[in-house]
Amino acid sequence: MSQFDRTAGADAGAEADAATETETDAAAAEADAAAEADAATKTGVDAEDGLTAALRTESRVLPAEVFATLGNDTRVDILRVLLELGADEEPVRFTDLFERVGIDDSANFNYHLRQLTGHFVKRSDDGYEFRYPGRKVVSAIFTGTLTDRAQVGFFPVGGSCYDCDGDLHGWYVDDTLTVGCADCGTIQVSYPFPSGGLDDRTTDELLQAFHHYVRHHYCLAADGVCPECTGAVETTLVRDPDEEDLDVAVEHVCGRCNYRLRSTVGVTLLDHAETLLFFSERGVDLNTAPFWGFDWCVSDERTAVVSEDPLRVRLSLPCDGDELRVVVDESVDVMETSLAE
Ligand SMILES: [Zn+2]
Ligand SMILES: [Zn+2]
Repeated sequence: MSQFDRTAGADAGAEADAATETETDAAAAEADAAAEADAATKTGVDAEDGLTAALRTESRVLPAEVFATLGNDTRVDILRVLLELGADEEPVRFTDLFERVGIDDSANFNYHLRQLTGHFVKRSDDGYEFRYPGRKVVSAIFTGTLTDRAQVGFFPVGGSCYDCDGDLHGWYVDDTLTVGCADCGTIQVSYPFPSGGLDDRTTDELLQAFHHYVRHHYCLAADGVCPECTGAVETTLVRDPDEEDLDVAVEHVCGRCNYRLRSTVGVTLLDHAETLLFFSERGVDLNTAPFWGFDWCVSDERTAVVSEDPLRVRLSLPCDGDELRVVVDESVDVMETSLAE
């Protein structure tokens, strides 16, 4: 589940053509995917935001399975070949699929195909075809047929998952860049990023730009300025936020446009002077180091509630064998900092 969830009141997204196409898809898939469609409706997903919705809905239902499944090269190959052979139109025969994927070991091929069968792929007497979520995700990754907006498939991201130490992958779908763990499915960060930012950038450069962009949005909001409309933002600590894995989170709400932004407590410290100094004295520049590489930015593992009323939380930020402790109040203002003994 995303630690970073932007819930703007009025999302500019959804272009007319994308919406139309999504509806067509939904109608075509209605007969064989009623269950998924229902699930999507129940989780409050708008049809107009179909692609992101498909990913988010699945990540809500089966996060670990979905991302672990897609993080394997052979399985991604199988999905790509299914798409190339038209499995969204009619079933693809096993022999055609096996031949085209080009794996020597049929037992290994069978194993990976089995992992896909069920959630992504449906098996019938005539062969293999996509199930609704499979088609949504796969066509988004490989062809961009769902919308003609930019799509960047899975690419490796440096660092490792804060939760399981697994490899990170990034993907850009429907104007949103996401970094998630290929092993356990944990999303480290997912945030809208304008597609113009993809132009003339390698994926490393893209990640660096994304880091700056997201970090500045959070810091801007924490400084009381709405990233959407520059209106006045109120920032508060929220205990046990809904639909989040966090015990405590930060919520920014714009009094002018009602824009809402929620984050970990840690991420608001990225432009705090003493935090910056603590890290820079130990050779780490928080201006440039991707923030999703710090567990205190993307989880609440290093966040402790030290007082409930008034609400006070303490963050323990480790670096190079030392630890900086920062206590913030209910308005997320820093009250005290100290080096752990
Ligand atoms: Zn992981
Ligand atoms: Zn605003």
